[in-house]
Amino acid sequence: MTSRVMRDFDLLLPESVTEVVTLLARHKDKSAILAGGTDLLVALKFDYAIDNVISLALVPGLGTLRFDPQDGLVIGAKVTVAEILKSAEVKANYPALWQAAQVFATPQLRNTATVLGNIMRASPAGDCSLAILALGGTVLLQSTAGQREVDLDNFWLSYAVTARQDDELAIAVKIPAPPSGQKSAFRRMTRTTEDLSKLGAAVSLHMAGNVCQQARVAMGCVGPTLVRLPAIEKILAGAKVTTELLQDIVGSVAAEINPIDDQRSSADYRLKVAGVLVRRVIEQALDNEGNVQ
Ligand SMILES: Cc1cc2nc3c(=O)[nH]c(=O)nc-3n(C[C@H](O)[C@H](O)[C@H](O)COP(=O)(O)OP(=O)(O)OC[C@H]3O[C@@H](n4cnc5c(N)ncnc54)[C@H](O)[C@@H]3O)c2cc1C
Repeated sequence: MTSRVMRDFDLLLPESVTEVVTLLARHKDKSAILAGGTDLLVALKFDYAIDNVISLALVPGLGTLRFDPQDGLVIGAKVTVAEILKSAEVKANYPALWQAAQVFATPQLRNTATVLGNIMRASPAGDCSLAILALGGTVLLQSTAGQREVDLDNFWLSYAVTARQDDELAIAVKIPAPPSGQKSAFRRMTRTTEDLSKLGAAVSLHMAGNVCQQARVAMGCVGPTLVRLPAIEKILAGAKVTTELLQDIVGSVAAEINPIDDQRSSADYRLKVAGVLVRRVIEQALDNEGNVQ
């Protein structure tokens, strides 16, 4: 049974990462981390059997947003979507992520919602998550037993389920430094501008002139998790990006996705337009416009 009344829970306010992981080890699946709370507080109004909410509010050291041309980008667990949007380094080096932040919800939401929260929610409509999947990255997890890194390619196991164990805190997501010639873009479709995506696409293309050396192509809202499109990546790898190639891609996307009917769109519509969205996001990356239309 669902209810709109928030269930009772204990709000725990640890003051260090060590305290957080100790609490997680004690309460395991009866606890949840509170970052921005934009997903969690909604979930707590439904059947969500959580007795202990562990807030990150007082935990220092999780607000890092650091770019290094060799090591890439580190986004700490408390970095908000608004901070991504303010970063000139993200805009210049990871346009797909910056563009996802640009269209993400409303200013109020962007000021509160974190990038890590978006990843941990494991929704196929997660905008920053989709951009980062196209760029490639790893999630750094910590428990009382130590740290481990999980590639995002293996992180989302099914709808709302990740490779994170109940006793692990996600500390950061790391995105590799962009190789020279890397171009990326994000694009989404919504019912109204501020709604969640009904379809999303993101690419990162390693270009040498107009030849694509390597590609990562990802889509959202076409299955229970965010997905990469290996057949499209194969078409692009080593190919000159021409109008004909893009037409080939438009015709090949539907065979790679498995959308459903839901309140935001129908499977049929998604199948019809997904190829065009992928073509447009590739064109956007190559134009390097920086702004989503
Ligand atoms: C009105 C509205 C509009 C929205 N619009 C968009 C949109 O346009 N695009 C979009 O992608 N999303 C959207 N969302 C969803 C939500 O805002 C995002 O998923 C957001 O990024 C979640 O971040 P948060 O910090 O609020 O996470 P929280 O709600 O704090 O946490 C989300 C989940 O992740 C877990 N978690 C968070 N941080 C960690 C951590 N460090 N380690 C382990 N577990 C953790 C929490 O326990 C919880 O299960 C919207 C939500 C609302 C309510």
